[in-house]
Amino acid sequence: MIQTIRGTKDILPGEISEWHFLEEAFKRITQQFGYKEIRTPVLELTEVFSRGISEGTDIVGKEMYSFLTKGKDPESVTMRPEMTAAVVRSVTQHSLLHHDPTLRLWYAASFFRYEKPQKGRQRQFHQFGAECIGSPNPESDAEVIILAATVLKEIGITEYTLAINSLGNKTSREKYRTELISFLKGKFDELSEDSQNRLEKNPLRVLDSKDAKDKAATKDAPSILDFLDEESDAYFKNVQEILKESDVEFTVNPRLVRGLDYYNHTVFEFLTTKLGSQDALGGGGRYDPLFAQLGGKETPAVGFALGIERLLLLREQNKVQAEVLKPDVFIIGDASAKLIQKIALRLRQKNLYVLTDLLRKSFKAQMKESNKLGARYTIIFGKQEEEKGIAIIKNMETGVQTEYPLKEIADFQF
Ligand code: AMP
Repeated sequence: MIQTIRGTKDILPGEISEWHFLEEAFKRITQQFGYKEIRTPVLELTEVFSRGISEGTDIVGKEMYSFLTKGKDPESVTMRPEMTAAVVRSVTQHSLLHHDPTLRLWYAASFFRYEKPQKGRQRQFHQFGAECIGSPNPESDAEVIILAATVLKEIGITEYTLAINSLGNKTSREKYRTELISFLKGKFDELSEDSQNRLEKNPLRVLDSKDAKDKAATKDAPSILDFLDEESDAYFKNVQEILKESDVEFTVNPRLVRGLDYYNHTVFEFLTTKLGSQDALGGGGRYDPLFAQLGGKETPAVGFALGIERLLLLREQNKVQAEVLKPDVFIIGDASAKLIQKIALRLRQKNLYVLTDLLRKSFKAQMKESNKLGARYTIIFGKQEEEKGIAIIKNMETGVQTEYPLKEIADFQF
């Protein structure tokens, strides 16, 4: 039997109501915040990600699905591992900021990373996210965090904590970087091999490491918050004030740096203790340097992404599940198929969800199925009714049956 490849999953009809429920919530809430959906290709030129995210990260260094295209001039292309760099590419390519100085964009899409699959971690997975592009002000950082928190609340997820931190502006970050490198050099022998290699290239990542050795060695590392200059400090305080006024609870975690190079000022993460080692529901931050890194005009921007599979796992654990849509009408009986199909279509044109039996089962079996599916009404339409030009409409809740002229059936108030 041919099976799905490792780390990928079918989303089966039995699970789809949950996906639809989340997608509806994403659509509704992003609309309230004025965000518009963007969809970009799954395949991008590899440089979109290698220039944007940097070679030193796991995503680019180890996890990308990249390959050369066929043909005379092969190009290196990559199945997107994340969306932010692709959005930046698209906004720049289409000069979207030309017409609109602040762009509010959202997406829900699939992504690809060659990671070791486990619960809550797949090689093809899905993220819902948003990007607020064009504003250099802390209210936009707060806006995307509030948007994410609103979505989580709306889909019934409350068991998480929100950690925030500031990486400051360029000057603050560089000062801190120098200080951190010198601290880490002092602890060199206590660090994991990965962290030793990262020390000069990406020292902030060492603080992110899950390795117990690194955690112990960096326990007393200097805090970035002590290096924020006046502007960065005021910026961060402003974000916090807005969150507080909006009743979004958070804790400040000075060790939170997030893996990617392109962040500055605010970074944040939604964490849960309910999913074992996959403790991040999502996260994001401000990425002012990214537009220029990808060859565009310098543009301030901030965004986040939430992992949809992890949201679904939490909902499953909490035993909250979206309702499965039930048919309005099930038409049963042994009348001619052409008439049954005609009635079904007429009712569907009235916006009703209508099912018919396609297996020519017995009357009893059809009635049983209508019951099982929870149809609100069953239309009984056998040869006898066909001859008389009527149908019997049964209200499945009350059991009341009404004879109704076939010609007028679309006028019945189902
Ligand atoms: P990141 O882009 O790495 O910050 O990821 C944002 C969120 O996407 C994470 O917090 C996870 O919820 C989700 N995520 C990232 N990688 C995976 C994966 N391989 N499988 C499932 N979810 C993932």
